[in-house]
Formats: sequence, C-alpha cells, structure tokens
Amino acid sequence: MNQIEMLSQWVAESQNVVFFGGAGVSTESGIPDFRSQDGLYHQHYDLPPETILSHDYFMSHTQEFYRFYRDKMLCLDVKPNAAHLTLAKWEQQGKLKAVVTQNIDGLHQKAGSRKVYELHGSVYRNYCMSCGAAYPVEQIAQGEGVPHCPHCGGIIKPDVVLYQESLDGRTIQGAVEAIANADLLIVGGTSLVVYPAAGLLEYYRGNRLALINRDATSYDQRAGLVIREPIGKVMEEISSLLDA
Ligand SMILES: [Zn+2]
Repeated sequence: MNQIEMLSQWVAESQNVVFFGGAGVSTESGIPDFRSQDGLYHQHYDLPPETILSHDYFMSHTQEFYRFYRDKMLCLDVKPNAAHLTLAKWEQQGKLKAVVTQNIDGLHQKAGSRKVYELHGSVYRNYCMSCGAAYPVEQIAQGEGVPHCPHCGGIIKPDVVLYQESLDGRTIQGAVEAIANADLLIVGGTSLVVYPAAGLLEYYRGNRLALINRDATSYDQRAGLVIREPIGKVMEEISSLLDA
C-alpha cells in the first residue's frame, strides 16, 4: 500500500477530519505565494512584501499599499482546485469538520466549504475604519487610489491580518478546538514556519497526522504520513480512491 492509498484509508476510517492548509493550496489555483522570494515582487516594487503588507505601511502609505494590494493580492477570478473541491465534498458528507487556512483568497468558500477558519482574514471582507460599515471586495477592486466609505468618508480596510497585527482571537479559538477534536489532521501546502501554524499543531491529540507538502518540514518526524507531492494531485487521487 502506498502513502496515498494509506491516507485514503485513514480518511475512510475517520469521522472527524480537519484540514490545515497554507499557501501551497492556493498556488495550484494560480495565486502567488507572497511570502516566497520568487523575485516577482521585486520587478515593480522597491520594498519587500513584508514591508508593504504591514500595519505601519498601510497607515503611512495607504495609497501605495492599495496599489500593491490591487495588483498582487486581489486575485478574484481564480478557481478552486481539486484540493478545495475534495475538502468541500468531505464536509458535505459529514466527514470533515473544519478547514483551517492561512490563505485570504476565499477559495475554500468558493468550492463550497462552510466551516473555514481564516487565520489571516479574507480579501472578501472589508470595513470602514471609522464607522465599521462592511463593503464587498468589488468596492476595493473597482476603485482607484484609497477606497473611502461613502457614508462617513473613513478609509476602508481589508479584513486581512497585516504584519504587526494580531490574529483574531475567536478565529484562533475555533481553530484550536477543531484541531484538538480531530481524529485525522491533514496538513497541506505549508512549510509550518509562519506563525501560528506550528503552534496550532501542538493542540492535536490524535495519532493520525498526515503532511502533504513539496518540501520537508520540521514536523515530518512526528507525522504518520509524509507525502511530498502537489496537494491538488494528492487530494484528487484520494478522492477517486474513496469513490471507487
Ligand atoms: Zn464609514
């Protein structure tokens, strides 16, 4: 039995699957990993993304922030891949209890997932910093310059956790509880170096931890299964094994 067959057997035997995913889940849909230093950002921007996507920079250079944000972060026409679709199907079947994600692109919801803990927020939620009014992403995407609230004139800010900002406590709590109650935890598309990914894994109490990532992670030794292949391909294979 190979590793993918083993993982599909684990999935078949589990009633409480939780998936924890990182940027690698979205890159297969064509969304760039803004944390990777692939040179993409340095072609048009003098500053590293960690600087532009920081709270200080948003407050002091709001217009430049939005230029970068619209150019690089708003990938609204991308589609969910086999990983998103498979997870949504497992949730519908009652097998998967939650998705915990570091991504802000809303692709899990687009695929049909409902219980999604978005640790770093979502580009689809935007709020006026002055009056709190909520705005759809189109309000940001279609405008130019700094988006302002039509009601009060305040600056509209994406509900995305910028560098220097803290994560939402209720989201963390929900993710912790889901992971603590999981019988199978599948971790995919993350090298587990970005806070708080590695810390969240500490809450897992089960004995079936599967890692799907192209590169090695510091958790490989603790995982019962380590699969070094693209996550979309792996999830598609597991899905078809389960359906067979
Ligand atoms: Zn307002």
